[in-house]
Amino acid sequence: MILVTGGAGFIGSNFVLDWLARADEPVVNLDKLTYAGNPDNLASLEGDRRHVFVRGDIGDQPLVEQLLAKYRPRAVLHFAAESHVDRSIHAPGSFIDTNVVGTFRLLEGIRAYLEPLPEAERAAFRLLHVSTDEVYGSLSPAAPAFTEEHRYEPSSPYSASKAASDHLVRAYHQTYGLPVLTTNCSNNYGPHHFPEKLIPLMIVNGLAGRPLPVYGDGMHVRDWLYVGDHCSAIRLVLEAGRPGETYNVGGRSEKSNLEVVRTVCALLDELRPRGDGGSHAGQIQFVPDRPGHDRRYAVDAGKIERELGWRPLETFETGLRRTVEWYLAHPGWVERAQSGAYRDWMARQYGQA
Ligand code: NAD
Repeated sequence: MILVTGGAGFIGSNFVLDWLARADEPVVNLDKLTYAGNPDNLASLEGDRRHVFVRGDIGDQPLVEQLLAKYRPRAVLHFAAESHVDRSIHAPGSFIDTNVVGTFRLLEGIRAYLEPLPEAERAAFRLLHVSTDEVYGSLSPAAPAFTEEHRYEPSSPYSASKAASDHLVRAYHQTYGLPVLTTNCSNNYGPHHFPEKLIPLMIVNGLAGRPLPVYGDGMHVRDWLYVGDHCSAIRLVLEAGRPGETYNVGGRSEKSNLEVVRTVCALLDELRPRGDGGSHAGQIQFVPDRPGHDRRYAVDAGKIERELGWRPLETFETGLRRTVEWYLAHPGWVERAQSGAYRDWMARQYGQA
């Protein structure tokens, strides 16, 4: 049995589905179902007794302790977070509540669960903390990619809250001997990605004939990884990673935002051409840059490749094609994900409904 937090979100739901497709080890899934948690993502597991869904907050320590005592998982995989940088700029409070205080409560719950266990069981337990490369801050164009030794220089309330959670997790290893593993991954894309994030936003707006908003000059560079490859990295770190260690995960696939948007447009032009014969790229609109917008992130995934033999299966081109195809095949998912709350947010952010 494993316990996953945030398993109704983008990466968590992909992980749970992948996990159960590969093995019969059951999953307890603790998720608060914020705007980003979507039960639709798990609809295919309905009636599957290997999946126990619990709606709740990682910050509810008695609940965490109760679940740990009841299900006695061998590992906790911690995905739950407030994850959208733009939202963290407008309203940072929930990022501190969940990413910092929530992670602290989860750690305390795990500590209380492990304390009375025999040494061998304690040593075999794992907490895998899923984090981001954004904790390292911004890279200049020619600088080498982030290694695990790079100093933490977060720029947004989101990345600062994730940095704080990474430090807490590490401190629980140093102080209490909790067997923790941390992964710091670059930007993910793929199925179930909430349509406020760059790639799904471009697909959904592109199809609807709406503007495709690109921040500033569009030259912000990110490393992109297909979500299925992130999931395989997490599985590998869980089974073979060394407790106390951090593993950077990335696709060696640096792209400017404008390049990403143009590639999405080209795929849409091919797979779902516009009625007027024009290119979706004609919908691109540059909008004022956001404050503290990091110029470049790039991840050196050498350690996980060398030590654990991890390799991504998808290139950016193959992964993006799979992603666009998934959105085209799931209009009902898109429709339901775009709830009232989502529309309010889009209206505030981009002045559109
Ligand atoms: P997401 O926003 O899609 O999903 C987060 C999930 O956590 C949602 O289901 C939400 O309901 C749940 N949640 C939020 N607050 C909670 C709380 N207090 N208690 C219980 N559940 C709660 O996020 P995501 O993109 O799937 O990211 C998952 C994790 O991976 C996050 O920790 C994020 O920092 C990290 N990460 C994301 C990316 C990326 O590109 N998306 C890259 C690297 C790391």
